[in-house]
Amino acid sequence: MSQSIATVASERGFARQPRIDGRGLALAGAYLVLYVVLDWLSFIQPVLKLGITPWNPNTGLMLAFLLVYGPRWAPVTALGVLAAEVLIRGTPAGWLVLICASAAIACGYAALATLLRRWGVPKLIESTAGAARLVVAVAVTTLVVATSYVLLFMAAGALPVEAVGGSIARYWVGDFNGILTFTPLLLLVGRWRELRQVLRNRLGLIALQFAAVALTMWLIFGLAPNDELRLFYPLFLPVIWVTLQWGVPGAMLSTLAVQIGLVIAVQNQPGAPPLVDLQFLLLTLILTALLLGAVVTERANALERVAMREAEQRVLLATAPDAVLTVHPSGEIRSANPAAHGLFGPLASATGSRTLRTILPAIRLDRESGRATLEGRRCDGATFPAEIAWARLTAPTNDDYLVIVRDVSQRQRAENRLREREMALSRAMRFAVAGELASALAHELNQPITALVSYLQAAEILAAPLASQDQRLQGTLGKATHEAIRASEVLRRLRDFYRGGAVKRERLELNLFCATFTATFQERLRRAGAELLVDIPEALPRIEADATQLEIVLHNLLSNAIDAVSQQPPASRHIVLSGGHGAGGVTLRVEDSGPGIAADVAAKLFEPFVTSKVDGMGLGLAISRSLLRGQGGELSYEPSVASGGACFIVRIPLHPVPATDA
Ligand code: ADP
Repeated sequence: MSQSIATVASERGFARQPRIDGRGLALAGAYLVLYVVLDWLSFIQPVLKLGITPWNPNTGLMLAFLLVYGPRWAPVTALGVLAAEVLIRGTPAGWLVLICASAAIACGYAALATLLRRWGVPKLIESTAGAARLVVAVAVTTLVVATSYVLLFMAAGALPVEAVGGSIARYWVGDFNGILTFTPLLLLVGRWRELRQVLRNRLGLIALQFAAVALTMWLIFGLAPNDELRLFYPLFLPVIWVTLQWGVPGAMLSTLAVQIGLVIAVQNQPGAPPLVDLQFLLLTLILTALLLGAVVTERANALERVAMREAEQRVLLATAPDAVLTVHPSGEIRSANPAAHGLFGPLASATGSRTLRTILPAIRLDRESGRATLEGRRCDGATFPAEIAWARLTAPTNDDYLVIVRDVSQRQRAENRLREREMALSRAMRFAVAGELASALAHELNQPITALVSYLQAAEILAAPLASQDQRLQGTLGKATHEAIRASEVLRRLRDFYRGGAVKRERLELNLFCATFTATFQERLRRAGAELLVDIPEALPRIEADATQLEIVLHNLLSNAIDAVSQQPPASRHIVLSGGHGAGGVTLRVEDSGPGIAADVAAKLFEPFVTSKVDGMGLGLAISRSLLRGQGGELSYEPSVASGGACFIVRIPLHPVPATDA
């Protein structure tokens, strides 16, 4: 079966709608000439010299013309019918009858063309259902046209009433056969290049098939004259052979050959049965061939689609990064893609293929489909965490499982690294909070304790004269002074302890640093429905800074920005982290489209315990500023001009400078 011509025409050829210009007129002229010539050639055994003949290939041409160029060419086809009546049959009735008959024929076939175009012409000869619809539509239309034509001539007195039935049958079978043998073939003309190619490649076979058709025709008409009707059926054999080989095009070509042979034989054989009798027999042959051809074409198309899909799937499996296995319910591995061999090692050996249990010991295929994270085992015994998805195939003859395995060890390592990093960050954050608290407490308590010490020392001096009477008062005051001094000392040491967390400087490339850091924020951003644009130029000079402390600062600023934009409508939740550099340092700006800093907060923004949030501690900005100052940098605020929200500016010196006291 040839795939190339059994698979049928494209839609392209059926959308042409030429305008009535020079080209259109030439086309109409060519059509008219061809139509009249075909009508003249097939003007055989007419009823009373009317256009009622048993084979009308010209009708097949008319329908193909209307299908390709559109029903709006119906007037040209009506003109063709009229011209044929006048030129070939010598005006067999009055002009009015002829014009009405031509119009009826043109209208009938224009309506049929409209319907077939709506159904999609190529599809009609590509499937059995389509071919059946085509046959029914053609049968009904030809019957209507034949009846109208015959009745018109009868009404005009050009045809006796008793000839009406026979005439309708003759006209109907003529048009029906003419359309079925001719129209599908004409629709394939646009694919002549393909057909020529097939003809060239399979010339021997085609010649043999043609010879078989010719030989059968000769057997019927040459060997057994006057017994044609009885011997007609052997013709099915070569026609079916050709049809099975070539699909619809083969069916149409072989039946056309039979049709032409039949006409020639009937013309040249004086005792042959009337053509109309043979035409009814031929109609069964044509219908059988057309429907069989549609089945063959449909199957060829389906096979082509399956082959295409198989090829796609082969490439998909070969290039899939995950291991894909098909596994028999008993656990035997039936097939594996290259990634599976790469992941587990060779899965088949001379002693047979391995079972699923040997590579995924804990797997249980107890459901139709599922997912699991299990331990995978390579051929060398090494194990790795694997994500598995499986599903049972639903093909009627195959109940294997399709199992997809992904090695997630790298992902898990990355997740672990991320988790460790987050833990380190939160440890550092807690330490920074404690430091800020200690610093704030020391600051707040320092003055009262200093005053207390002064008062106690003054009290000691005042109590000195009484010492001769009672030593205890001065002793107690002395102890109180000592304890107050000790308390102030503890506070100072506490503050120094937290502040003294050594700065671990390292060289940082800010764009890489920010890319890694912001990746950890993606989930939070997604939850908040906010968009973060990171714009850190690659050319930014490297800095020397404490990465953990810088991360704490940016973490605070981004967290605040997300909180701020979350109060805005979803479409205006934008945050921009940008970088730049100037003399002596680089700057990072965190701008957001939030409401900006509240007036009551703005004045003491960087002071500890200043917050507008219900669950806020008001330490984030204070900590960030003191961490940056500890590295010789600075944190400042300005309203964002671009986004209307807040803009925090982080300045970091290129070269470390002695820390400024926070
Ligand atoms: P907290 O977040 O615990 O309140 P912070 O020191 O980080 O502590 O912030 C202090 C206050 O500054 C916040 O409560 C908020 O009112 C204000 N603030 C900080 N960043 C922004 C911002 N991007 N937009 C609006 N207000 C902000």
